[in-house]
Amino acid sequence: MEVALMQAKKSCPFIHVTSTSTLKRLSNNASSGNGLLRKAQQCPVMSQAMGQQARPLSTSSIAAQTPTKTVKAEVKPTPVSHHSKSKHFDYEAFYQHELEKKHQDKSYRYFNNINRLAQKFPRAHTARVEDEVTVWCANDYLGMGRNPVLTETMKRTLDRYGAGAGGTRNIAGNADLHLRLESELADLHHKEGALVFSSCYVANDATLSTVAGKLPGCVIFSDALNHASMIQGVRHSGAQKKIFRHNDMAHLEELLQSVDPSVPKIIAFESVYSMCGSIGPIREIVDLAKKYGAITFLDEVHAVGMYGPRGAGVAEHLDYDLNAAQPTMGNGSVLDEIDIITGTLGKAYGVVGGYIAGSALFVDMVRSYAPGFIFTTSLPPAVVSGALESVKYLKESTVEREMQQINTRDVKSRLGELGIPVVPNPSHIVPVLLGDAAAAKLASDELLSEHGIYVQSINYPTVPRGEERLRITPTPGHNGKMIDHLVDSLERIWDRYDFKRVNDWVEQGGCAGVGVENAVPPTPMWTDKQLGLDKVIEERAVRSGTSVV
Ligand code: PLP
Repeated sequence: MEVALMQAKKSCPFIHVTSTSTLKRLSNNASSGNGLLRKAQQCPVMSQAMGQQARPLSTSSIAAQTPTKTVKAEVKPTPVSHHSKSKHFDYEAFYQHELEKKHQDKSYRYFNNINRLAQKFPRAHTARVEDEVTVWCANDYLGMGRNPVLTETMKRTLDRYGAGAGGTRNIAGNADLHLRLESELADLHHKEGALVFSSCYVANDATLSTVAGKLPGCVIFSDALNHASMIQGVRHSGAQKKIFRHNDMAHLEELLQSVDPSVPKIIAFESVYSMCGSIGPIREIVDLAKKYGAITFLDEVHAVGMYGPRGAGVAEHLDYDLNAAQPTMGNGSVLDEIDIITGTLGKAYGVVGGYIAGSALFVDMVRSYAPGFIFTTSLPPAVVSGALESVKYLKESTVEREMQQINTRDVKSRLGELGIPVVPNPSHIVPVLLGDAAAAKLASDELLSEHGIYVQSINYPTVPRGEERLRITPTPGHNGKMIDHLVDSLERIWDRYDFKRVNDWVEQGGCAGVGVENAVPPTPMWTDKQLGLDKVIEERAVRSGTSVV
């Protein structure tokens, strides 16, 4: 029983946080022990773990060196199975060993069962249809995934063209819809061409590995916080890489200076870094790229749909008024200066897929050489039609992104008033610092089980150890009541467990940008004027007699 409990504690997301002594007490008590077992057999996670318990393990396996034994083996010696006699490699034991490492370093991932309800955004039901929660961490940032503009088009396309694309882009999978989506994306980013992939993970990996792999002697300069897809692309390219400290332009310049001017160079970075919400210094990087003969590769995955007058991302947002008045290539904005832009159709655009945009020759080269583009079935027509409508819709409609920013400001300032530590940043991401993996998981579990709120905890390796956090993403669909409930729930949890507040972090000298003395608070990317708040603020000031106008 003890072994079964150890196994259960490792596997089950629900009893994971219960102390071993409590579990032992429950299981030693004859009646509750039986109840515990019965309950466990009904649980999808536990029943699997118990199934594994019953499976005899090889005596020669790696697992045999670990404390895990079968329940049977404890009662009477396990008969030597055919498997254990074999000299062949024990694959299952190997998998178990690898997973054991994840449990030990606390990076094992537990997935919550969350079923987002199209008609009740941002609500979802959990494993039981009756149990509804409010989702506060989805990347369907603007609620486009359930917008009838998309869903109605997708239904019609499904009826007309069927479910699948029917092949790769080369073989029967290149429909008019794919081509229209690519022209729409090229226009959005002021580029000559665009190319759609099955995801942006694939787009980043395939593009970086192909281009950097082909450019003779290429050196890639990569921001230290770049996403795994770019890191993988850099690795797959085989090119030399130089990592610059996050957003540190002096370091980037120092590294650029160390490479021969004639050598081809790519600077790879992001606009919005999704786990801390920081924003890449686009103009400065473009200037450095020009000075040192590099090309720029900008991932706008967490910005497309949400920044800029037409939703092209942060690069477009930097020249907001110019791009609003004259939204075409060649208008002199910094957007035109970026060589390669990548984006996703799966977050703010609410569907799935990824893409690159750049010069016609660059796009044609990736189309012609990148295995991740060539050798895979293209996106289904219904998905492409949904993405196309979403991009077109968000080029025109700004209310969704404005409401998202207003709600974000509200959440950030309310948490700030309570001293609940938010990693300071100028974007729509609200990272709430716990600084400990168990604490982050506890906060997330308690929000879900006691307050009907779903916010996933973010642990190592997604963030460094000691910087574990909750990552909250307000949307235009969260109303005032939901915000009140979120803030009250967090306050109760912080109180109950005495989690660290901003002052505690100040005492410790700061962490992840929280509690850093004399730090200048970041200016939000969306200004009061862009959000139409300047007039509201002015009117309030006039009413209260504090106007300086
Ligand atoms: N780039 C960044 C910065 C991301 O955070 C992600 C995914 O979260 C991706 C690329 C991959 O995008 P997709 O979800 O379309 O594969």
